[in-house]
Amino acid sequence: MGGEERKKKGWLSDLLDIIFPRSCISCGDGVDVGPFRHICQKCSDRHVLYANAPHCTTCGYPFWGMAEENRSCEHCYHLRPVFSGGRTICLFKGPIRRMVHALKYESALYVLEDIAPLMERNPGMRDFLQGAILVPVPLHPRKLRERGYNQSQYLAEYFCKEANGGTVANLLIRKKDTQSQTGFDLKTRKENLKNAFALAPKMSIDLTFRYILVDDVFTTGSTLNACAAVLRKAGVVHLDVATLAHG
Ligand SMILES: [Zn+2]
Ligand SMILES: [Zn+2]
Repeated sequence: MGGEERKKKGWLSDLLDIIFPRSCISCGDGVDVGPFRHICQKCSDRHVLYANAPHCTTCGYPFWGMAEENRSCEHCYHLRPVFSGGRTICLFKGPIRRMVHALKYESALYVLEDIAPLMERNPGMRDFLQGAILVPVPLHPRKLRERGYNQSQYLAEYFCKEANGGTVANLLIRKKDTQSQTGFDLKTRKENLKNAFALAPKMSIDLTFRYILVDDVFTTGSTLNACAAVLRKAGVVHLDVATLAHG
């Protein structure tokens, strides 16, 4: 974007802010100061919890206040991940929980504008994504028709933009329309996800590249692990995962 264009856009968004004041997605108060466009200063200061180091090397969950090196958490030990490492920007709580809900169920794609300031506060995430090929976790065609978009695809595009490089590649398809996995244990989730994903037709893998699977929330990691298994089978050597939030 050229300087003139940027100036024009800034002026226009300032005007729009006056006509349509922005409100916080979490508490509803006005948002006029602070780094976020859709989360007020009070909510961001108190309730956005960043997953900075030290954290689990597999899922990114932070080890609060413990002076230890990065290592895998107990949960990830049971997951037996087929991907190598993982990072998440923040925890799936408060305003971020609202953000994901708005993104998935309210077509509120404007919340993605806050990916940039979130990532700024977790610079390790930006380094982690650098130069990789980002692969969104796919939606089943039925759900894609219903929702009209895949939120993980948008997230991957915003991650790419913020990481200054890399590309997004839709390498996977979802063959099985699995029901919501909430409430199921790890074993049942794994069973439900059996053969749920496949490599998209005519997609090829470049073994020299690093691939990162992208999803909105890391819950148990089973979905990401099922996707990772397909990519591994296709020959991917360098494979990690990245999420917006850890829940
Ligand atoms: Zn608020
Ligand atoms: Zn973990």
